[in-house]
Amino acid sequence: MSKREPIVMIPGPTPVDDSILKAMTHRTYGHTSSQFVQIYKETLSGLKDILMTDGEVIAVAGAGTLAMEMAVVNTLKNGDNLLVISHGHFGDRFARIAGRYGINADLLTASPGEIVDPEKIAAELKRKKYRAVTVTHVDTSTAVCAPIEDIGKVLSNYPDTLYILDGVCATGGIEENMRDWGIDVIVTTTQKALGVPPGIAICVFNDHALARKKALGTIPNYYCDIDLWLPIMHDPTKYFSTPPVNLILGLNQGIRIILDEGLEARFARHHRYGNAIRAGIKALGLDFLANPLYAAATLTSVFYPDGVNDTEFRSAMDHYGILVAGGLGPMAGKSFRIGHMGNITHQEILLTISAIELSLRRVGHNVKLGAGVGAAEAELADHL
Ligand code: PMP
Repeated sequence: MSKREPIVMIPGPTPVDDSILKAMTHRTYGHTSSQFVQIYKETLSGLKDILMTDGEVIAVAGAGTLAMEMAVVNTLKNGDNLLVISHGHFGDRFARIAGRYGINADLLTASPGEIVDPEKIAAELKRKKYRAVTVTHVDTSTAVCAPIEDIGKVLSNYPDTLYILDGVCATGGIEENMRDWGIDVIVTTTQKALGVPPGIAICVFNDHALARKKALGTIPNYYCDIDLWLPIMHDPTKYFSTPPVNLILGLNQGIRIILDEGLEARFARHHRYGNAIRAGIKALGLDFLANPLYAAATLTSVFYPDGVNDTEFRSAMDHYGILVAGGLGPMAGKSFRIGHMGNITHQEILLTISAIELSLRRVGHNVKLGAGVGAAEAELADHL
């Protein structure tokens, strides 16, 4: 029998629903045609619903890193001070981007798996004037979820400091209430909890952030300049640079799925799946990188038990039909990461735990088959 493609349980790209793939196969529309303009507008408006904002949404060809760069260059200039709250590799990325533009980035970091205490952020803001603070909602390298609402409360005391949030590994899976939590800019992308293939950079700016851009005026960047994009987002019959037409069709369908499921139900489902994955793995005696208090609903990072080799384990997982990711940076070889977000069901959750049991056994680690699946089922059973 030929081998099936493994299920992509990595932290993005995530499994894509057939209806999204089908939407993307529509004959390519003219990018300023009335049919496409309607779909583009509806897509931008759906993103506003998901991010709970009346701000300006920009969705263009690119990936999450482009969206991060757009946030930085449209709000900060050479010589400005930026406070970067980092829970891992992707938090640090903001400092690297800022460095390229001569922006002074100060990093506040936590030990791996922990968070930077919002009180520490408050103390730093008191000590020094910052033009913006960046926060990574879920850092995909450590699977730590930042307390973004609490950080918003701290920042509400500093109206001249913008709150920039990287929602890449959270948007569509964990609540991001831009309006109520005082978030000025959200950057995100399609291939994670939105459940759509990679290729669209999404940025949202509220009035506060737009006023900052106005004060900056023309910036040295061209493709990244939101002033060149906003007229197109308001009226997509206009042209600046060609949008990724078929990906937008996919995103439009992805948003329909999300809004049909209902935001509250979707966030609750992600929370439940996170608990089920961790209950299953814990029952096998393995440990997690993230402190359980800050464990993300969208992905989990798991330490290997002594004697289990990363490459052997992940190829065993592939043998059982599940793709998981290795650890990033200092965690490479020591841990693996499972994405559990987007348009997956309990089936993928249970298959993943089953594959982990079988793979551990295959690489010579002693586990009780079924113990993990049973624990995960116990978390899910009342909701099926
Ligand atoms: N931020 C976070 C939290 C991420 O997980 C990633 C991608 N893994 C990025 C930013 C960068 O996104 P992209 O790979 O789409 O450029």
